[in-house]
Amino acid sequence: MPRPIQAFVHADALRHNLARVRAAAPDARVWAVVKANAYGHGIENVFEGLRAADGFALLDLDEAQRIRSLGWRGPVLLLEGVFEMRDLELCSRLDLWHTVHCDEQIDMLSRHKTQVPHRVFLKMNSGMNRLGFTPLRFRSAWTRLNQLPQVEEISLVTHFSDADGAKGVAEQMALFNQATEDLPGERSTCNSAGVLRHAADVGVVADWVRPGIALYGSAPDFPERTIAQWDLQPTMSLRSRVIATQDLQVGDTVGYGSTFKAEAPLRLGVVACGYADGYPRHCPTGTPVLVDGVRTRTLGRVSMDMIAVDLTPCDQASFGSEVTLWGKATNGTVLPIDEVAQAAGTVGYELMCAVSGRVGFTQD
Ligand SMILES: *Cc1c(COP(=O)(O)O)cnc(C)c1O
Repeated sequence: MPRPIQAFVHADALRHNLARVRAAAPDARVWAVVKANAYGHGIENVFEGLRAADGFALLDLDEAQRIRSLGWRGPVLLLEGVFEMRDLELCSRLDLWHTVHCDEQIDMLSRHKTQVPHRVFLKMNSGMNRLGFTPLRFRSAWTRLNQLPQVEEISLVTHFSDADGAKGVAEQMALFNQATEDLPGERSTCNSAGVLRHAADVGVVADWVRPGIALYGSAPDFPERTIAQWDLQPTMSLRSRVIATQDLQVGDTVGYGSTFKAEAPLRLGVVACGYADGYPRHCPTGTPVLVDGVRTRTLGRVSMDMIAVDLTPCDQASFGSEVTLWGKATNGTVLPIDEVAQAAGTVGYELMCAVSGRVGFTQD
């Protein structure tokens, strides 16, 4: 029998979250962002749940090919565009739309031989300073692209740096609107935080929005807001089982470094889940976890293959009891991934992307 750890991907939750995002930006078309293998869920595992999206946005050509092999004939957007000349051949062959964010990508496009001209998304760097042309250089890039026979249609795109925080999007949005004022083409703005927090703001323009994390049931602005407050559902449940129990006396310690010491007698469960499964080693004693759907806490250090959990609130728990590291227990109790991420000093994104290859995935 394989180790009892497994990740479950919930199609109904993906559908629910997608509908929720749509409702927040009812006039926009929605790219479901499925980069990083659908935020660690597996593109094949999320495809059914997200197929009501208007398109799929990702980074890897390999992932674009997988979406096409699943039978998706609608729009696919490469968020970083192409990396070398021959990527453009795949764009022509698979009908991929691609971001153009730098002069080198325009050079490559100008040398590309294609029967079918491409749809491109010209990216503005409106303040993030990652990808894109500055507002000053945007128009000349647009003009250059517009003259290429390889280009059929140009859309305009930018990415917000602070949609989840106090600064907001107004400044970047104003720069973008000003610099693109008389240019034709559809506009794409707004990651999850942008959609949920700002899509309805005055001045926010979005023909296409690009939510990722919200689709996967993590709040983009946690802890300011939780998934319950945004009405989002977990799409990944990482579950394992108790594989041993120990009865501790006062003064007994747990795990490497003896970082947890019992101040009262206590029963603990040893769970088949460790950092080699992608569970963060940084989670301290007290990180929330569900045993048989009852909330309790971890004890001591996370080791490679195991963690210990406090069975005090879980009288009935024993060998084989279900343990939910994050997501939904089979009894329906939810432990948001955001709470575990917070304990580890990171964000839900990183945890879901980091579930390791030795964990089996099941569609649920
Ligand atoms: C990853 C990404 C998104 C999605 O961001 P979330 O915060 O996960 O919603 C949107 N746009 C671009 C350009 C991205 O790289």
